Amino acid sequence: MMDQFKTSNTRGLIAVRRGVQILFFLITLFIGIKFYLFVAQLESGAAITLDRPPGVEAFLPISALVSLKYFLCTGIFNTVHPSALVIFLIICATALVVKKGFCSWICPFGLLSDHLAKLHLYLFKKQMDLPKWVDLPLRGIKYAIAGFFLWNVFFKMPVAALDQFIQSPYNTFADVKMLEFFTKISFTSFWVITVLLILSVIVRNFWCRYLCPYGAILGVISFFGMGKIKRDDRNCINCGKCEKVCPGRISIMEKAQINSLECSACLRCVDVCPRENAIGFSLLSGNAPMGQKRIALVLIAFFTVGITAARLTGRWQNEVTVDAYRQHILRSRMPWRIPAGIDPEKMEKMIKMMQTSKFPKTMTKQ
Ligand code: SF4
Ligand code: SF4
Repeated sequence: MMDQFKTSNTRGLIAVRRGVQILFFLITLFIGIKFYLFVAQLESGAAITLDRPPGVEAFLPISALVSLKYFLCTGIFNTVHPSALVIFLIICATALVVKKGFCSWICPFGLLSDHLAKLHLYLFKKQMDLPKWVDLPLRGIKYAIAGFFLWNVFFKMPVAALDQFIQSPYNTFADVKMLEFFTKISFTSFWVITVLLILSVIVRNFWCRYLCPYGAILGVISFFGMGKIKRDDRNCINCGKCEKVCPGRISIMEKAQINSLECSACLRCVDVCPRENAIGFSLLSGNAPMGQKRIALVLIAFFTVGITAARLTGRWQNEVTVDAYRQHILRSRMPWRIPAGIDPEKMEKMIKMMQTSKFPKTMTKQ
């Protein structure tokens, strides 16, 4: 039944997954640094020599959800954060083929989680997982968070409210706010992140397993997807090695096909299996075994094709002007709240004074 699993094609190739993770991490880092420099130029009032990298919108999933419903209701692809929706759609599409492959192959938090799990092993010398009766309800949290956002966006927001949200300054400059979340991190955010990191060392994959709503959405989509891990009882010797390394803590040996929402197509189970043709990842048709290299190619192809198509159809770059970004940044640097009824001309004059540095430095936030 499953002679298609040529495990020798995949064994020893975990390095491929790590390579893809590092590649996407470097791309994310490049985008982050470029956006940081773009904002820094705006803040300094210097001439703008850098373009805003559209990929930064990958970190705006709520904007993407609102844009998706707006697109479904009106057929209009919003121009405020179009790449947020493009990236969201690409990631969801990958789940139909390679399960939650995005989590274990591309997401920078997945890479971080992997390393924190290694630190867990180093510190505790063995894998310590939460008991099932604690694990199961905790796993429900990420579905509850995802459900909350989906319910509110898809069932509670009328089209007019979607449009208002998309055009609002809150959404328009969400990329700058997201950057400032890290560069000007608040006391509370710092401690929340620190606690999450510590929890991820104590409990393997804490963030991904219990809290990440993106992973929850991908898990549900992947349930209906084509790619599945399959185990062949005839060749399996029930050694349990696959279950031991599975980051999703899936009971692999009990099943012939893994439909679990937790499977991230990491292929660790395939890599450690001592038997030929006992376990493998394949599409539902069953004739195309996918090793690490094929999964890597599929993921890279999805992103390359999706982003190229978005570029060619004008759905990649946003249409928020550099001037609008500059004015937002200057406004946010003012130490007082601008009264709602202020004369726009006076406001404009103040902004120009700040731009030309004639504004007293003590009146601006350092
Ligand atoms: S590692 Fe391979 S042989 Fe061992 S239980 Fe898993 S599928 Fe069976
Ligand atoms: S080890 Fe296997 S079953 Fe577990 S998440 Fe990875 S691919 Fe899925």
